[in-house]
Amino acid sequence: MLLRHTKKASESIERKGLTINPAKTCQPVGAMYAALGVHGCLPHSHGSQGCCSYHRTALTRHYKEPVMAATSSFTEGSSVFGGQANLLQGLSNIYSIYEPDIVAIHSTCLSETIGDDLGQIVGKARVEGQIPEGKHAVYAATPSYVGSHVTGFSNMVKGIIDYFAYKTEEVKKQLNILPGWVEPSDMREIKRMLKMMKVKYVMLPDTSDVLDEPMTGKFKMFPEGGTTIPQMASMGDSIKTIALGEWCSKDSAIHLENKCKVPFHIADMPIGIKATDRFVQVVAKAFRISVPDSLTKERGRLVDAIVDMQQYLFGKRVALFGDPDQCISLTEFLVDMGMKPVYIVSGTPGKAFEKRMASILDKKVPEAKYMNGERADLFLLHQWIKDEGVDLIIGNTYGKYIARDENIPFLRFGFPILDRIGHSYFPTVGYMGGLRLLEKMLSLIMDHEDATVAEEKFELVM
Ligand code: SF4
Repeated sequence: MLLRHTKKASESIERKGLTINPAKTCQPVGAMYAALGVHGCLPHSHGSQGCCSYHRTALTRHYKEPVMAATSSFTEGSSVFGGQANLLQGLSNIYSIYEPDIVAIHSTCLSETIGDDLGQIVGKARVEGQIPEGKHAVYAATPSYVGSHVTGFSNMVKGIIDYFAYKTEEVKKQLNILPGWVEPSDMREIKRMLKMMKVKYVMLPDTSDVLDEPMTGKFKMFPEGGTTIPQMASMGDSIKTIALGEWCSKDSAIHLENKCKVPFHIADMPIGIKATDRFVQVVAKAFRISVPDSLTKERGRLVDAIVDMQQYLFGKRVALFGDPDQCISLTEFLVDMGMKPVYIVSGTPGKAFEKRMASILDKKVPEAKYMNGERADLFLLHQWIKDEGVDLIIGNTYGKYIARDENIPFLRFGFPILDRIGHSYFPTVGYMGGLRLLEKMLSLIMDHEDATVAEEKFELVM
């Protein structure tokens, strides 16, 4: 019993000033992930070496790939007097040693607390020549004492758009796709669907072929994938931006509209059948095309699987935690399956969460409890589960302690997944991703039944 001190929520006093086992991680991790989705870009952490090591470790452990990043390596001196000198020296070293086209700088708790102004330091570096001619430096403020890794991701994408996208006289018949924080395989899957629809697009960021690069035996400092500079520049001339996920992508879409007058549409992450339908429809509408048969057939296969599996999944109680954009679409998918997402927490703050959850759950699963923000942690989720159990837990690796203590099947989903390998190669978005999620959920529930059912009820055919 690793979490033996957790009591039922109904028997506990309400917490006001303490977070236990947060359902989020720190802003710069998201900023670093976003920067990795830009071709030829080296993320740079403006803070201590420890912060940078943590951000890199979190990403490396999840993606099982080496994650390259630089740091301003704050010492005691820079902690007191500011990190300008370290960043200027760092930029000079980075461009001459590693030769990136772009350095994407994010701040940390320490540099934000000191009050370092990244815009001013980058401006000085440009004037003084630490940023060579033809090279670029973008930046984002990512203080980790507010928001979460999702906020950091959003801030960095916005910073990249702010720097690169610009409007010309030419209108390009292409879509801007802001995929939000999804796996490289998910980005690849969204691109596959767009290709099936014969739609031109620019995706930002795009970590496919960066964090899931084929093994060639040769190390590449800057992998082949990632959004290129000309692609990012052209985003100002696109006909529309489709921003997937309010938390991950909305601010960037608004910023692009303000800067370049590109209209935008905020869509849910295409996880599950309805959210994928909406995504496909909005793309089809923007390009005035009909949905290709090949995609309709994929949808049909998902519907067929739902029909086959629903008898086993109907009524199953689920506890879910993770990023708000993912939780919203996944909750809707679970409800569509007749399942009962009864407990949902997300550590990322934002007022829209409870409203969206209410619209999905209040009529269909009136007993559901959901919460986001600082107090919405894994301890609370466990307390709720103690009150009345669930049949399945869905969330990142940190949920394994609850799953083990309560003997509940556990579907690893979201970020980070530290204790399994392969998840980042298989999409969970789109119709094919929906199939994978269904198959995984049902297998876990049936494996659990096989392992725990009484001998006289152990069946060959379930
Ligand atoms: S100090 Fe702040 S930025 Fe650094 S690792 Fe901790 S939470 Fe993240």
